[in-house]
Amino acid sequence: MEATATIDKFKEFMQDYYKDKIIELDRKRIKLLNIDFMNIAKFDPELGEVLLDEPEDCIQAIKISLDDFDIEDSNDFNIGIINLPANSEININRIRQKHLNKLISIKGVVTTRTKVFPKVVSSKFECPACGNIIKVLQSKEIYKQPTKCGCGRKGAFTLIVNELKDTLMLKLEELPERLKGSEQPYEIRTILQDILCKEDYQIFLGSRMEVIGFLTELPTKVIKGTPSVNCDYLFNVVSYQSMDYVDFDITVSPEEEKLFDFISSRKNPAKFIARLIFNDIYGYGKVKQAVIYQQFSGSRIEGKRDYIHILLYGMPGTAKTDIALRTSYLNPISKVATGPSISGVGLTAAVKKDELTGNWVCVGGLLPRCNKGLAVIDEIEKMSDQDKKSLHMPMESGYFGVEKAGISAKLVTNTSILGTSNPKVVTEPLKVGTNCDLPASILDRFDLIFKFTDVSDSKTDTKIAENITNRSTSEGIANSFKDNNTTFEWSGHTFTISSIKKYIYISKNKIPKLSKRVTKEIHLWYANLRKTSEQIGFEHKKPTPRVVESILRLARAITRSKRKDLITKKELKLAIEFFDFLYDTEDGVGLAEEQVED
Ligand SMILES: [Zn+2]
Repeated sequence: MEATATIDKFKEFMQDYYKDKIIELDRKRIKLLNIDFMNIAKFDPELGEVLLDEPEDCIQAIKISLDDFDIEDSNDFNIGIINLPANSEININRIRQKHLNKLISIKGVVTTRTKVFPKVVSSKFECPACGNIIKVLQSKEIYKQPTKCGCGRKGAFTLIVNELKDTLMLKLEELPERLKGSEQPYEIRTILQDILCKEDYQIFLGSRMEVIGFLTELPTKVIKGTPSVNCDYLFNVVSYQSMDYVDFDITVSPEEEKLFDFISSRKNPAKFIARLIFNDIYGYGKVKQAVIYQQFSGSRIEGKRDYIHILLYGMPGTAKTDIALRTSYLNPISKVATGPSISGVGLTAAVKKDELTGNWVCVGGLLPRCNKGLAVIDEIEKMSDQDKKSLHMPMESGYFGVEKAGISAKLVTNTSILGTSNPKVVTEPLKVGTNCDLPASILDRFDLIFKFTDVSDSKTDTKIAENITNRSTSEGIANSFKDNNTTFEWSGHTFTISSIKKYIYISKNKIPKLSKRVTKEIHLWYANLRKTSEQIGFEHKKPTPRVVESILRLARAITRSKRKDLITKKELKLAIEFFDFLYDTEDGVGLAEEQVED
C-alpha cells in the first residue's frame, strides 16, 4: 500500500469508527486514543496487515488523520493499539531480529525501572548563515546535531529548542511459568513515553504486564562517538495493561478430572501428594505435608498476606534441600537461589547505574521476580546481613519500597519463601534461637520452622541408606521433575507432575470462608497455647499473635487442598496439629515415617 493510500484508508477508518470517541476525548482533555486492532481488521483486513508490518508509519498516518477532526492540538494525541491477534504475541525468550519494527505484544515481569525523566525527542537548530530552521529527530541514545544546511554550511548550528517527553524505561523479564527445564529468562528494555508515564506509580517491580509495541535496535556500546555493530532491542510501548493471571494451562481433560476427584477424595490430599513426590525420601512426614500446603497458599485476603513461609533448619546432609528443590517444581512460578550467591541485586532491590543509558535504575531481586509464586532460598543463613534485614517488609506485607538516588520504587512480593538453613555450629544443640544465624524478627515471620536433626539411631540410618541407594541421584530426579516427565502410579492411576501442579493451582484460587465457631476455637487454642508455653513451649518462646494468622493461612491451604470452600473444625484441627507438633518437639521433627492410609 502506498503511503498516501494508507493515510486515506486510515482517514476513512477513523471517520467510520472513532469520530464520536475522538470528540469525546477532546472534550474531556484526554490525550490518549486506544484503537482496537479488531476494528481495523474488520474495516479492512489488508490495512490490519499493514499496521502489523509497519506500525511506526501507520501510527503516524493515524495521527495525520486526526487533522480532519475539529480538535485542539491533534499533534499531542497519543495513539495506542490494543487487542492484537493472538499470534502477534511473542515470548520474550523467543524474540529475534525478524520481529524488529513489527507490531507485537509481549508479556513479562517488571524487573527494572527508571524514574520518569525528560528525554529529548526532537531539536530545532538555526543556521547562522541563512537563518534556516533545521529540525532533527532524536530517536537514538546519542544526541544528534545537523551536519549541513541547504545553503552549504557545515556544522556549528545554533540550538533553538529541544522538545522533551516524559519517559519511563522498564525491563521486562520472561514469565517464570513459561520457562522450560533449566532455561534462563531473558529481559527486554521497554520505553514508555508521554501519557503512558502518567500512572507510573502503578508500575511496581514484580508487576506482571502485557505490552503492545514495536522493537527498534539500540547499539549496545558507543565507542568514541561511533555506535557499535552489536545491538540490543528496545521495545517501544504503544499500550500496556496489567496481567493478573498466571500463564499456565489450566484446561482439565476428563481423565485429569478423574484424577483430581481421586486426589480430593483422599482423607488427606496433601499427605497423598507428598507420598508421590517425596516417595524416596525417608521420614519427615509433617514437613512434606507442610511444603505441599505451602503451594496451596497465596491469594490476598482482605489486604493481608496469605503466602506461607517455611524454614527447614538443621544439620547439613539431611533431606532439607532435596525437599525444597522438589517443592519448587509444584509451583508454576518459582525460582531457586542459594544464600551465598544472592548478592548485588539481592532478594528485594538495588539501585544502580544502567550501563547502556547511564540512568539510575531500580533493579528488583529474587522476591519480586517470583511475585505470585515461590522463592526457594537454600542456605538462607549465608545471605548478607543487609539482605536479611531487607526481608522484614516483603515477608510481612507483600510489598517493599525503595528510595535511593532520586528513585522511589515499589516492589510487589506476594511470594512464599521456602528457606533452608544450616546451624551456625554443627556440634551444638540445634536451638533455633541461639544456633540459627537469622535475626529473631525474620524467624518470627516464618509461619512454620522445622528442625532437621542428624539421626544417629542405627535402625533409621539403615532405612535412610536404603532409600538413598534405591534412587538415582537426587539431581536426576529433580531434573525429571523440571521437564514434567516424572509419572507416579497409584492404584491404577497415573499422575504426572504437571497434573499435580494443575490440581494445586486450580484449587489455590478458592478463598475458603471461616465460620464463627471455628474462629472461636482458634481463639481458645491460642489462649491455651500462651498459657502452656509459659511452662514448656517451642524453646520456651512465647507465641505471638502472629501465630493466629499463621494458623489461618494453614487452615485455608488445607481446605483448598480438599477443594472445599468452608474451613471446618476438621481442617482447623489439622492445622493446629502442626503447631502443637512444633511447640511440643524440642528436638526437631524426627523421622517417624507416616504411611498414607489409603
Ligand atoms: Zn543555512
